[in-house]
Amino acid sequence: MNQKPEGCLWCEYRGPVLAGEIITVVNPQVTLQHELRRCPTCREAMVDIRWPDRIVRRKVRESPRRFRRSLWVVVYPVECAWCGSHNTDAYEVNATVSNPVSTRFKYDIYRCLDCQRPNAISYLGEVYVHRADQDKEFFSLWHLDPELEQSEPSA
Ligand SMILES: [Zn+2]
Ligand SMILES: [Zn+2]
Repeated sequence: MNQKPEGCLWCEYRGPVLAGEIITVVNPQVTLQHELRRCPTCREAMVDIRWPDRIVRRKVRESPRRFRRSLWVVVYPVECAWCGSHNTDAYEVNATVSNPVSTRFKYDIYRCLDCQRPNAISYLGEVYVHRADQDKEFFSLWHLDPELEQSEPSA
C-alpha cells in the first residue's frame, strides 16, 4: 500500500500542492518527518507525514511569533463527541486535563461549530475524542467525559 494524499484538506482543490520545508509541530501524533505543503488555491498550509506504509496529510495552522520561528499546530479531523458533527475547530493546544486517561497523553481542545460544545482529543499514535467540560473556576482546566445528567448552565 502506497497511497498518496491528493489535493487540499481546506478547500475543494484536488490538484498537486506546493512542497515546502520540514517543520516541527507542537502537537505531533508521531515522531516522523513533517513536510510543509501549501494549497495553490486557498494558500492554506498542510503537512505530509511519512508513515512507513503511507503518507498522511493533515491540516496545520501557523502561529507567527515575533523574531522567532512560527509555531505550527496540527489540526486533526475531529468528530464532535456530543453531536457527531465533523464541523469542529482547534481551540486550545496542550490543555491541562484533570482526569487524563494516561499521564503520558497530551490533550487539545476542539470546539464544535454546530453544538458549540468543547471536545478534548488525545492524539499520540491514534486520535481519541472525549466530551470535555471547562472548569467553572479555573478556565484553563478541563475535565474529560463529564456526567451527562449535569444540568446545562442557563445563559
Ligand atoms: Zn485549498
Ligand atoms: Zn457538536
